[in-house]
Amino acid sequence: MNAATIDSGRVRHLSELRADRRVVLSLYLDLDPSGFATPPARSSAVRSLIDEAGKQIEGAGLGKDEVKALRSSLERAESFLEADLPTEGVHSVAVFAAEPLDLFETLGLPQSLPTRIAIGRSPLVGPLAVAVNEESCGVVLVNREVGRLLRGDGSVLREVADVRNEVHGQHQQGGWSQPRYERTIENEVEEHLRGVAGMVSREFDRQPFRQLFVGGPQELRAGFRSELRADLAERLAGDLGVDVSSASPDDVLAAMQPALEAQRHRREQEVFERLGAPLTASGTSEVLKALNERRVETLLIDEVRSEPGTVCTTCGWVAPAGSGACPADGSPLEQVEDLKEPAVELALQQEARVMPVRVRADELRAAGGIAALLRF
Ligand SMILES: [Zn+2]
Repeated sequence: MNAATIDSGRVRHLSELRADRRVVLSLYLDLDPSGFATPPARSSAVRSLIDEAGKQIEGAGLGKDEVKALRSSLERAESFLEADLPTEGVHSVAVFAAEPLDLFETLGLPQSLPTRIAIGRSPLVGPLAVAVNEESCGVVLVNREVGRLLRGDGSVLREVADVRNEVHGQHQQGGWSQPRYERTIENEVEEHLRGVAGMVSREFDRQPFRQLFVGGPQELRAGFRSELRADLAERLAGDLGVDVSSASPDDVLAAMQPALEAQRHRREQEVFERLGAPLTASGTSEVLKALNERRVETLLIDEVRSEPGTVCTTCGWVAPAGSGACPADGSPLEQVEDLKEPAVELALQQEARVMPVRVRADELRAAGGIAALLRF
């Protein structure tokens, strides 16, 4: 298993799955290398996740068939996690399993997500939605000899490709006049930059990213930018002053942080400027109404706060705590500890963007802890 970049289509598909009973098991296992680098640490993390999930299945007050289905999903998850735990570039694993839905899906994620267990009628996709929303980045590091490409988002990067210029070296070779030699070197550097730009294009065509950072000696960056395809040049997000041949992915990530932080500020500012204007909703009851009516374009959530609520067992209608029956189909509503999760699920089903608010969390709290921009 390799690290997958989560695509929004796959997350939406998961968000649309719904069983008529509580038979869907969702497991998230954090494999952050800072805590789980060694095989024993990983296998003990797997062990305790499986044990805890087993306890939750027995202790959730479920019917016999539900317990039976969940146990068999857990067994399958256990064999997968014990046999096939990925290592390279995978910082967390998600498993979604439900025998009655014929569902067994595993994702190796490049981000570290907290370990979690959920039992419900649908897969717990909220943590994925938040991960998918992080801006996807490509970073190209280029000097006269080397071109390296990394990709990821604001929290993790990995190296995906590199090219090396087969230059003669910058020392003079015998037999050439100096001007002719310099022209040749300059042509070669240009060719190298073109080759690096080609590598970036191929990688982008395989899997697009939203923004591109360029790192390397300042005097080369302009030349490199001019070799980029127009649709990639549009995505340029900033320059990084890192050492091209020696910088590790973490060094690059650190160099990107000021630009990413500034983007977060800008994005949140744009959204908050619209709040309060027409076509927005704030506070639980307004936002849930808009979600239930499929009118949400962007859902703003506070990752820290949780609020109890109710969800329709049949159609996924989300309502504040204490509501009785589903107004759409009369089915009973079920209590949930945190209505953010079914709200995110509903948002994904209507192709809304889910935005965890970090910079302006206090303002979101003042607006009722949850808000939305609406399509109509
Ligand atoms: Zn309903």
